[in-house]
Amino acid sequence: MRRSLVVGNWKMNGTSESVRQLVDGILAGLPQGKAVDAGVCPPYVFIPQVAQQLQGSQVLLGAQNVADQDSGAFTGEVSAPMLKEFGCQLAIVGHSERRMKYGESDALIAARYQKAIEHGVRPILCIGETLEQREAGQTFDVVDEQLDAILNQAGIDSLRHAVIAYEPVWAIGTGRTATPDQAQEVHAHIRQKLAAQDSTVAEQVQILYGGSVNADNASELFAMADIDGGLVGGASLKVDSFLAIVQAAGENS
Ligand code: PEP
Repeated sequence: MRRSLVVGNWKMNGTSESVRQLVDGILAGLPQGKAVDAGVCPPYVFIPQVAQQLQGSQVLLGAQNVADQDSGAFTGEVSAPMLKEFGCQLAIVGHSERRMKYGESDALIAARYQKAIEHGVRPILCIGETLEQREAGQTFDVVDEQLDAILNQAGIDSLRHAVIAYEPVWAIGTGRTATPDQAQEVHAHIRQKLAAQDSTVAEQVQILYGGSVNADNASELFAMADIDGGLVGGASLKVDSFLAIVQAAGENS
């Protein structure tokens, strides 16, 4: 049985004061005794502050990316050992905003993923197709290619220590959500693909859905057999909507 997981991707939002209030609100309202884990991924600069606030809680702390190197002349990057030192258990890799706005390739994403695994930071690997690709009937090919880059670099076993997030690009930050059936179809495909290499890994790996998840649509998405929770952008910036999504995941686990 897979535990549910809901992770907030705060992207480039917040001030130290708004972050303090958001974390306080999450800690105060987190549902107890449910089979769901919650996590937050603040911008790097807020990680030490959030780590301190989360001390003694079950809420997971994550980063929004991770370097493909451990240290050295890599201006602007933050490495897995640094994230680890500041208490990060998770790191998003391959977010479509990184792929599309910053030109991150499958190869670079695989190297970032590998570094996270190597240092015991659990990568949340984001994969998903653009609208154009979906309309051309290429959805499965696109996610297969993105997954193959990871499998070829890090191997199927690495997924014992990772999370996958299926995030159709056309649903991210657009208010347009995949229907539960559309999302389930891709999640099942991903699991099937992994099962061809290792059925245990395929059965155990958490596959989150991301793309305009909110308090109103979370329940029906999380009710699908292969959807194990969500990676949430906009709706994770408000205490009430984030908590409602966590609650919905807890009820569907
Ligand atoms: C995301 O950024 O991963 C995301 C899913 O954003 P949103 O929920 O705002 O679509």
